[in-house]
Amino acid sequence: MSSGRNDNTSGKNGATRKNAFCSFCHKSYRDVGPLVEGPGDVYICGECIDLCQTILTQERRKHAGSNSKPISRIPSPREIVNRLNEYVVGQEHAKKVLSVAVHNHYKRLINRDEGHDVVLDKSNVMLIGPTGSGKTLLAQTLAKILDVPFAIGDATTLTEAGYVGEDVENLILKLLHAADFDVELAQRGIIYIDEIDKIGKTSQNVSITRDVSGEGVQQSLLKMLEGTITNVPPQGGRKHPEQHYIPVDTTNILFICGGTFVGLEDIVGQRLGKRTIGFANSQFTSQTENKQNYLSSVTSEDIHHFGLIPELVGRLPVISTLEQLDEAALIRVMREPKNAIVKQYKRLFQMEDSDVEFTEAALRAIANKALDKKSGARGLRSIVEEIMLDIMYELPDLPNGQTYQITESVVNNKETILPITKNENVTKIA
Ligand code: ADP
Repeated sequence: MSSGRNDNTSGKNGATRKNAFCSFCHKSYRDVGPLVEGPGDVYICGECIDLCQTILTQERRKHAGSNSKPISRIPSPREIVNRLNEYVVGQEHAKKVLSVAVHNHYKRLINRDEGHDVVLDKSNVMLIGPTGSGKTLLAQTLAKILDVPFAIGDATTLTEAGYVGEDVENLILKLLHAADFDVELAQRGIIYIDEIDKIGKTSQNVSITRDVSGEGVQQSLLKMLEGTITNVPPQGGRKHPEQHYIPVDTTNILFICGGTFVGLEDIVGQRLGKRTIGFANSQFTSQTENKQNYLSSVTSEDIHHFGLIPELVGRLPVISTLEQLDEAALIRVMREPKNAIVKQYKRLFQMEDSDVEFTEAALRAIANKALDKKSGARGLRSIVEEIMLDIMYELPDLPNGQTYQITESVVNNKETILPITKNENVTKIA
């Protein structure tokens, strides 16, 4: 047992001996922080306590059996779309594609449980769309409305085994966490992998700080998407020789991958251009052709040209493109979804017995600021937060019962926010 015998500080719980070592991982107090001391010079660090906790939870799970019940009712694609509509504005095609993919995912699970001869292949989904168009939001909303475990990961943080960064197994670990370490349940879950385009080997967006070409990561992802038994270290990233691994079969996990694929429209455009020139068709060669139209014609081949290996693209057979949100859509994003920002501010003001109104022109001005930033709906919150900062600072000290109005001039920093009286002639929009 390693410990600093000559130290002057000690304690039964939370021992702080400066030279003490964890009796389990042999790391020193200096590396892992406070150690808990047991009888007979035994110490344990916080990391090992966490690890023990996870192992015990797993063991209990094993003995208690899985919580995963047979699926009794499959939500119809229409039902799924209706639920998505409560939170996500527009993106009808992506909603349809996802609802069918999820619906079929449930059917495949039932089919498997019933042991049918015909094995239903899973159709992993690829979502392509600009920043802030709702890719992650769609995935998160699915998580909310489905009763299968759901995890979100970022492809840019993934590296090949052996490099600094996360291993792909960590994605499965997140799913295991979401399933509360019920392996059976996790094996029927859904994983969303963001920024899949950033691991393209020819992508210009590959981070220069990461010394991996991207192809190795793609290969490891491929195995997971195809279906493999992945050995997941319960304490993501920490690999002890003596560590227990949890084997997870990824065959029935549905993968949804998302990315912005900057430059993909040019690849599609070139292909369409080449093809149409021969037929003297100027439809696709026109300078004014909307890039978005190109994207809606994207094929697996184009994504391969972009830099993803064909095997990986082949494992993502369902492709859907999301549209750039325009001014009208951004205004809807601010006021329609269940947790729309306008609704959130109204609630905050109500808590101070006051009210707030955003005029149509103000929302238009905010939408245009977001469009200038080119960050889609993602930029809306920070713009609104900035506009509201002063009034949120003052509000608790101001008299109750007032209604404040956010006008276009307020948005453009020309005026401060003032209370209006209820009978003033204003266009109420929220
Ligand atoms: P990305 O497409 O880059 O993954 P996100 O889904 O992360 O974009 O969007 C960022 C934020 O913008 C979301 O949290 C949400 O508040 C808002 N948002 C984006 N798209 C939509 C949409 N279609 N409908 C409603 N809100 C949206």
